Amino acid sequence: MGRYIFVTGGVLSSVGKGITSSSIGLLLSSRGYNVTIIKIDPYINVDAGTMNPYQHGEVFVTEDGYESDLDLGHYERFLNRDLSRKNNITTGQIYLSVIQKEREGKYLGQTVQIIPHITNEIKERIREVGKDYDITIVEIGGTVGDIESLPFLEAARQMGLEEKCLYVHVSLIPELSTTGEQKTKPTQHSIQELRRIGINPDIIIARSRRLLEPEVRRKIALYSNLREEDVFSNYDVENVYKVPLILEDQGLSKSILKKLELEDRKPDLYRWIEFVEKMENARKKVKIAMIGKYTKLRDSYISIVESLKHAGAYLDIKPQIKWIESTDIERGLIDVEGSLGDVDGAIVLPGFGDRGTEGKIMAIKYLRENKIPTLGICFGLQLSVIEAARNLLGLKDANSTEIDKNTRNPVVDLMEEQKKIVGYGGNMRLGAQKAILVKDTLTYELYGREIVYERHRHRYEINNKYIDALESVGFIVSGYSEKGLVEFMEYRRDIHPFFIGTQGHPEFKSRPLNPHPLFIGLLRSSIR
Ligand code: GLN
Repeated sequence: MGRYIFVTGGVLSSVGKGITSSSIGLLLSSRGYNVTIIKIDPYINVDAGTMNPYQHGEVFVTEDGYESDLDLGHYERFLNRDLSRKNNITTGQIYLSVIQKEREGKYLGQTVQIIPHITNEIKERIREVGKDYDITIVEIGGTVGDIESLPFLEAARQMGLEEKCLYVHVSLIPELSTTGEQKTKPTQHSIQELRRIGINPDIIIARSRRLLEPEVRRKIALYSNLREEDVFSNYDVENVYKVPLILEDQGLSKSILKKLELEDRKPDLYRWIEFVEKMENARKKVKIAMIGKYTKLRDSYISIVESLKHAGAYLDIKPQIKWIESTDIERGLIDVEGSLGDVDGAIVLPGFGDRGTEGKIMAIKYLRENKIPTLGICFGLQLSVIEAARNLLGLKDANSTEIDKNTRNPVVDLMEEQKKIVGYGGNMRLGAQKAILVKDTLTYELYGREIVYERHRHRYEINNKYIDALESVGFIVSGYSEKGLVEFMEYRRDIHPFFIGTQGHPEFKSRPLNPHPLFIGLLRSSIR
């Protein structure tokens, strides 16, 4: 029978539940258990696809084309396994489905209510995922006490009566800046709130700046009816990949397995430890420019940042990121040469809409002309094509129809299938797409194979009418989809040492233990 671990949060959101859940997942799967993680997002959006990155950070895309909260990215990176659309449950999905069922007459004669109809729907979806696993971790977004999360907490409570469940509460222990004293009161309140809902936490993970003081740990244990050994300290560390090791050292897995009545086994964390050590010991520094328009919130590009770390550890390189806000270039607040003159490599980031695009195009021109190793991701590829069309082919008004509907040279345009679609949400070209790489290209060399799958999230495509002209100036296609769409382009190596653009999002497939070839290639070329 499968077991369930519910992870709730106290005091503040962003307290680190995502990394904690991922760490528990890694520790248990390193013991040979088959583990998965579900994220519950109590918002009413059906998925994260329509949300601005400033709201929730990056939109992560799964292999099966679902646009999710960024926590699924953490889960995949720690578990080293693909998750699916079923691993994210939102209030929007639950209500949509219950209301549809009501209209179909499935509850005929009944009054449809939060309890039991909404809670049953929640439990069904959790079990639908959990039935195939030994252990299912369910992270409930937000903070205990939020109105939105109540039905989910109620469902979690009920499941405790029906299955073997464990409740982990991750809570903040603030520190007074004047005395450095660790304060437990907010956590006491959130534990009380959890009890009021009917859930007694089995394990408390205290988030704090420094290691938890023994006295403070004792106090938390007392208030939560727990033994001190069931209170763990997850203190601030610069490297999130160290968190599972910190919790392992304190015996978290042992405590969880005992409570779940599962045997403890010897963990196999060898490769993980090796990865963390390589990451920490890397000395060679490379400065990588990240050019985009959501640079004010770093979480907007979290998978790309992590991908650089994975490739860096692999190569014994410490990548240093220089954030470059493309709207600042556009407005003349920073100049291109001044901001890109000292970087070793660059990534032109994904994006939507026209804000900041001219700034990115100016940056791309500089990167191309100065032979700086460059990776263009999705919009980054599209804007590189616009730059080439304008500056190498002399098509001064070349543009994407996303930016200028009436351009006479739509080098990036909507394909017929996308034109038919109206409205927003889940209707882009999404998820894993097959590409066939062209032999003798840098792209092919890096991947080391002909057929690759990358996850996509876009509406627009490179306009094939301009391919011959672009190739004639050395910007060649290095990978096509089965239908002949452009998936990868690169500058011929006699023109530029490393300039690759891809329509896909390689960052969604990079893992600590499986760094991605394109990021490895970029860093390797940047160090030269
Ligand atoms: N805005 C572009 C498109 O929709 C690129 C999207 C992206 O960078 N993910 O095609």
